Amino acid sequence: MRILVVEDDALLGDAIQAGLKQAGYAVDWLQDGLAADQALTTEPYAAVVLDWGLPRLSGIEVLQRLRQRKADIPVILLTARDTVNDRIQGLDSGADDYLIKPFDMGELAARLRALVRRASGSPTPSLQVAGVELDPAGHQVRYQGQPVELSSKEFEVLHTLMLNAGRVLSRGQLEEKLYAWGDEVESNAVEVHIHHLRRKLAPGLIETIRGVGYLIR
Ligand code: CA
Repeated sequence: MRILVVEDDALLGDAIQAGLKQAGYAVDWLQDGLAADQALTTEPYAAVVLDWGLPRLSGIEVLQRLRQRKADIPVILLTARDTVNDRIQGLDSGADDYLIKPFDMGELAARLRALVRRASGSPTPSLQVAGVELDPAGHQVRYQGQPVELSSKEFEVLHTLMLNAGRVLSRGQLEEKLYAWGDEVESNAVEVHIHHLRRKLAPGLIETIRGVGYLIR
């Protein structure tokens, strides 16, 4: 799961990036609004953590541009401003959620999980597809009721396929959704993770659509 963090405070941005990485997310961190606006037109983020006060383009302007493009990616707005009017302006500009600084990293990670789940249309905290139950909060997977041990990247590959159940994702699309800028990606990494998932879960669970990509139905 790839998240964009936009925060110009170096100390806080670094802490958020580290905290979300620890929670299993791939994280890109940018420090100004214009760079964020550009990244959001090209990269397939699962969600954005967006500071309000940013150089070059404010968080609110980034948000307004994003919504003008009809992009429905979930956005959590961060701000030190805490008046009712600020909160109303943030939500009316298209934010899905709102956190007042200082905040707890665990709460940010939990709110991101809730937003990503809602965006995927899942009514329950755990995802259930084809006999697989995946709990994003507990980082646990069961297949036909039995717990399955997965590496963190295997978990993320499975999570991404389940969030997109019924849709074919190419290797490139999976890589873009799973790896941040600067992450080392071996050329066959996705194939290896899928091979392991088939072995640990069921051989036919993840289908290969030849020349197109991978799919869970
Ligand atoms: Ca700021």
